[in-house]
This record gives sequence, C-alpha cells and structure tokens, in this order.
Amino acid sequence: MSKPASAAPEDPAAAVPASECSLRTRLMHIGSAPFDADGVAPVSLPPMRASTVRFADLAALENAQRRKAAGERAVTYGRSGMDTHRALEDAFMVMEGGSYCVLAPSGLAALTLVFFTLLGAGDHALVVDTVYGPVRHFDNVLLKKLGVEITYFTPGVDDLESLIRPNTRLLYLESPGSLLLRMLDLPALAAIGHRHGLLVAADNTWGSGHAYHPLALGADISMVAGTKYVGGHSDLMLGAVVTRDAALGDRLSRTQYALGYALSADDAWLALRGLRTLPLRMTEQAHSALRICEFLAARPETRAIYHPAWPGDAGHALWQRDASGSNGLLSVAFNLSHDAGRRFVDALTLFGIGFSWGGFESLVQWVEPSLAALQSDGAVLPGDTLIRLQIGLEEVDDLIADLGRALDEAGTV
Ligand SMILES: *Cc1c(COP(=O)(O)O)cnc(C)c1O
Repeated sequence: MSKPASAAPEDPAAAVPASECSLRTRLMHIGSAPFDADGVAPVSLPPMRASTVRFADLAALENAQRRKAAGERAVTYGRSGMDTHRALEDAFMVMEGGSYCVLAPSGLAALTLVFFTLLGAGDHALVVDTVYGPVRHFDNVLLKKLGVEITYFTPGVDDLESLIRPNTRLLYLESPGSLLLRMLDLPALAAIGHRHGLLVAADNTWGSGHAYHPLALGADISMVAGTKYVGGHSDLMLGAVVTRDAALGDRLSRTQYALGYALSADDAWLALRGLRTLPLRMTEQAHSALRICEFLAARPETRAIYHPAWPGDAGHALWQRDASGSNGLLSVAFNLSHDAGRRFVDALTLFGIGFSWGGFESLVQWVEPSLAALQSDGAVLPGDTLIRLQIGLEEVDDLIADLGRALDEAGTV
C-alpha cells in the first residue's frame, strides 16, 4: 500500500490519511505530530495545553477572528482547544463519516449541545424511549423549564408519524438503545423524520465510529460518548457531535462556545491514544461477548439475552443489515428472584460493580426494574432480574468460569 500522504509535513491537516484506506489503518495515522524545521517529530502529537493564545501582531489576531467568524478553525482563546483537539476532531469525522465535529467535556454534554442548538421555547422533540437515562433527567431539570416539550416514543408500537406536530423540530434516536440494546430501523425512522422536515440525531456511543454509522444510515447528527470505547481505559470523560452538514456543525459550535463547554487537552490526547486500538478492542470484546451469550443461553436461569449480534436477539436482522461490527455490551433477563439476583452480582469476582462500559475491564450493572419498565414494549417481564454486563479484555474462559460459579452460588430462591 502506498504511504497515505505526501503533502507538506508541516501541515497538521495532512496527517489525515487518504479515504481509500480502511478505518483501522487511518486511525493509526491521524493526529501524528507535524515535523519541525529539521524534519523531525515524535510519532504522537503531544497534548497542547492552553488557556491563552498570543498573536505576532494585530493583523494576525484580526485574521484569526475573521476566519473564525467565517466558520473556519481558527483559535483566539484556549476554550475551543488547540492542535490536539483538532486532531481528535479529525479522527471523529473520519470515524463517523461527517464533515464537522464539535467536542464536549462529557458524552452527556455532547447530547445536551444538540438539544440546546436545535430547540427553543415552544418547540417539541420526539425521543426514542430507549434513550440513555440521564437525557430524561436533563429534560426534567432543564428542558421543561425552558419551555421545550419532549415525547418519548416506542418504535414499532407508536405510530411515529401521528406524533409529529407542527412545532416538532427534532427526532432523537439511539440505536441500539440503552439497557436492552434494541436495534432501530434507523433508515426508515430518519426517512419519516425528513419527510416532515425534522432534523434527525442519533447517539452512536454503542457503535463509536466502528460498529455502526448513523450518518451513513440517514441521520444528520451523530453523538458519541468518547468516555466509553474511544477512551477505552475508564479514565476520561469526553463527548463528540459530528454532522454531515458543515453549516449545522457551525451552529453546534456556536452553542458550544456560548455554553463554555471546554475539553482538557490531556483528555483529548488520551482519547487520541485510545482510538488507535478501538477497532481491535471492540472486535475482541464483541467476540468474547458472543461466547458469553452462548454460555448464558445454555443456563437454566437465563430467560432472554439482549445483544444485537446474538442470533436470538429481536433486532438481529437489523443488526446484520445495518451494523459493521459489535461490542462487548449485553443484558440478560434471569428468572432469578430479587435476592438471588443480588447474590449473583455480589458473588462475581472478575466483574466490577459499576455503571459505565467500553473500558478494558469487565463490569456488571444491576438494572433497577423501574428503569427497564420505561422501555414500554414489554420486553422485560415483571419477575425478571435484569443484569447488564460489559465484557472487557480479560480471557473469556475466566469470565465464563466466574459467571458460572456466581450463578451456582446464587441459587434460585
Ligand atoms: C455513557 C453514555 C452517555 C454519556 O456519556 P458520559 O461521558 O458519561 O456523559 C451517552 N450516551 C450513551 C448511550 C452512554 O452510554
């Protein structure tokens, strides 16, 4: 294969490799440090920390201001980030297939940027009911107060078209959704939204630019919590919003500026470091998750497995059609009593009890029945104990042994 770019090495933008290479190859070359005057550079761009930017003369300052006002990437102050941030934005644009990226200090901040940019007092949005839980908190604490109205809908049960009002602006999706990992028919939903003039946004934390591509499937905006698979090591918080249309991206960027959302250069650097291995980690974790599905499916305690790459999952056909990979996240409905479910979680030794996912380590989350009940298509039965597992990079046979032993210890009463 030819070397990606022969353009001037001083130009950091030249570090984005040609699009004919696979994503995995491109991720190894994005964000390389540019050469100095002697033609020497470290492989990895260092974290460029800055609050204050200085200018050689007033003409240089005014030039930067002019470029910024025209929507170009020009820096006048550290809040919008320096070269490390630009390299990470390039990486997210390549991963998500978009033309504009805005970074945020957490995944949730990235989601709120979208709501704040697209909605004002008197507006209405349709949000899928499998949405990441804290979005409902954001709605209750802020959106309602600002006069924005949200309707949560159940895909396949509610008639989406009949829920659209004259003041509906946004169709907000997440595929697969949180907790039960329900796949959406994103192309069909986006087509309905566009027919009615709505903008379509999708939370792509599950796919993280590798396993799923909402922009290619019809969404206008894709959001990723880089806290999960992009960081990959459970040690940073970060979000990104990527758009197909640069003008829409510019609107988001103005909201980011207005809200003062700033991301530390160190976290941007850790994310760049993490995404070098993202395809490898996700592929390995997806492989282990399928092995664990096989093991759990053979256990009498298992009533249902939620993992779109698993052939028994209700969304498997959509996953086969639309996804380009999978990951290590799965939920299981056990027919265990409440107490037995708790004993199972406490008996695990290789799974940390914790909320997040996408890191290198395995985690278990006990899902409150009231949370599962918000997803109103009845997938979870009242007596089920719902457990979410994040499968890490441990040897999968060790994880299976731990799960088997913990199930045996939990008993059924
Ligand atoms: C974790 C998560 C978020 C929020 O990310 P933070 O960085 O924790 O704020 C958003 N969407 C989904 C689907 C997530 O799992």
